[in-house]
Formats: sequence, C-alpha cells, structure tokens
Amino acid sequence: MRLFICFFVALFLTSCSSDNKRLNEINIYSQRHYKVDEIQYKKFEELTGIKVNVTKANADELIQRMINEGENSPADLFITVDVGKLWQGTDLGLFQKINDDSIFNNIDPNLLDVNKYWVPLTYRSRVIVYSNERVNKNELSTYEDLANEKWKNRLLVRSSSNAYNQALMSSLIANIGLEETSKWSEAVVSNFARDPKGSDRDQVKAIAAGQGDIAIVNSYYIGLLLSSEKEEEINAGKSVSVFFPNQGENERGAHINVSGIAITKNAPNKVNAIKLIKYLTSLSAQKTYVNNSYEYSVNPSVKPDEIVQKWGEFKKDPLDLNMLGIKRNEAIRIFDKTGWK
Ligand code: FE
Repeated sequence: MRLFICFFVALFLTSCSSDNKRLNEINIYSQRHYKVDEIQYKKFEELTGIKVNVTKANADELIQRMINEGENSPADLFITVDVGKLWQGTDLGLFQKINDDSIFNNIDPNLLDVNKYWVPLTYRSRVIVYSNERVNKNELSTYEDLANEKWKNRLLVRSSSNAYNQALMSSLIANIGLEETSKWSEAVVSNFARDPKGSDRDQVKAIAAGQGDIAIVNSYYIGLLLSSEKEEEINAGKSVSVFFPNQGENERGAHINVSGIAITKNAPNKVNAIKLIKYLTSLSAQKTYVNNSYEYSVNPSVKPDEIVQKWGEFKKDPLDLNMLGIKRNEAIRIFDKTGWK
C-alpha cells in the first residue's frame, strides 16, 4: 500500500514539476549571432520571470534538428537572420500560423508574412559600400551596374553559400528574371577582386587594406565596425561609405531582408512564445535592437540609431519577402553555373 501511495505522490510531483517548467521557460532555436539578443532575453526574463533557453546554430542545422525531433522537439521558437529560411521552415510544415493579430499592429505591413507563419523582428538592407579614397559616389547606381566592367578586379563579396547573398540573388531573379540574373552573375564574378571569402566585415576590412574598392554587405555591419572597441575595425568602418542601390525614380529600391521569428508547430510553451514575440516587437525592444545592432526597426515609428541615420533614408524593394525563399533554389543554381564560389 505504501509503495502504491509513493507511486502516486511521485507521479503527482513529476507532473507538477513539468507543468512548472511549461509555465516558466521558453526554448529558442536561434541563428542570430549578435550581442543585442542577450540583452533582449535578459530584460524579458526580468520582466516576466520566464527563463529563456537559447540553442544557437546555423539555420540549416536548426531546421534539420526540428525535422529530426518531430513532435517531441523542445523548441518553441525559431529565429533566423534570413527570410528565406523562414519560408523554408514554413514550407516544411515546421511552424504554426499566428492567430493573434495584435502582434502585427506595430509592424510595417510590407515586412509581414502574407500567410502569418513568421514575424519580422528587424530588417536590414544589403548595400554597396565604397572606398572613400578610390571611388566617387556618382560612379555607383544599381545592383545591375555591378556587372559593368569598370568594376573589374575591384568588387569584394563573400561566398555564395551565405544566405544573405542567396537572398540578394533571389531578389534579382524575382525582379529581372532568370536569364538576366544569370548574365548579371557571370559578369559580377568576372569583376571579383579575389575569390569570395570571409564575412561581411572582412570585405570592408579588405577595402581598407586596398584589396578592392567596393563591396556588397549588410548595412548594420558598418554600424558595428564604427562602434567597435577595436581600432582596426573603426578604421575599416571609416574607410568606406554606404550606398543604397536602385534609388532612381523608376527603380525598385534597395534589397532588404528580415531577421524573423516563428512559433514551432508543437511549441510546448506556446503562451510564453507569444509573450516573447510581443516583447521583441514592442517599442522598447525595437529601440534596443536599433541602438545595439544597427539594424532597422520593423516598427515605422522607431528611428534608426544615429550612426545609421547619417546614411539617410532609402527606398526599399517592395517585393514580397517570401519570394526570397521561393526563388532560393534557382539562385543557388545560378551561383553554381556562373562560378560564384
Ligand atoms: Fe549578420
């Protein structure tokens, strides 16, 4: 009899503790690699008492992990720095639709998922940066113009395995078609100053070191370089200026991508997941993003950081962001075909 009671007490305790766990924690699979995220989670923990557990890896690894774990995945949320991966996760059936429309109220409608499977947290533009010494601003115009032979041996960019480049190529396919994009890529590759290598920051450092004159990079990396504690990085940031391509009256605007979040299909802590999304899209958290990571806020009323404001406002390509996922495989084929390493 005593054994029998013990069994039920034990059962009760375990169910209590697992319920507790459900109430008080949240599990994020995140690809983001910026310091600002730790600040955000810490503030959220202080505010709500909900413990935030983060598993970091690259997006493909996290997606594979969710597939392998299936219904038993502990992940509540998936965060990535590329909308293409949000689209892919949606396409694979890994996420659930977000029914709480109040989440979308403070977000620029152009940045939203029309199908409501993911929520943008920040956006960024993939811009051209140019050497202040060797390039005149008037020489720059569009992404298409990077194919011009005047840039021969002068253009720096990272490898084609990078999602930021895949998104840019996808945007070109969606806007100018497969054939034109393929020709563009071939000419761009022939303008490379060196074989693609390193990060976006490394391309800027290479301009500072005279290895090339222009580079394709995400906007916030210039803010991160200029606010760095390392003198070498500050100097690299100072050696270049930011140029937003395709700003002419009849042009589509600069390519943008979002960092975004999705709730997993079987999120064990769904209520907490929604709370965190609401927190990260709140006015105060949006200000924390722009002032620490130099990204742009998805809330139109939140101004960019001062460093970023100096680059001026720019016209954004209004393309449906899901196209950056839908065109991904075609983009990868163009990279391979045109020898973009
Ligand atoms: Fe990044």
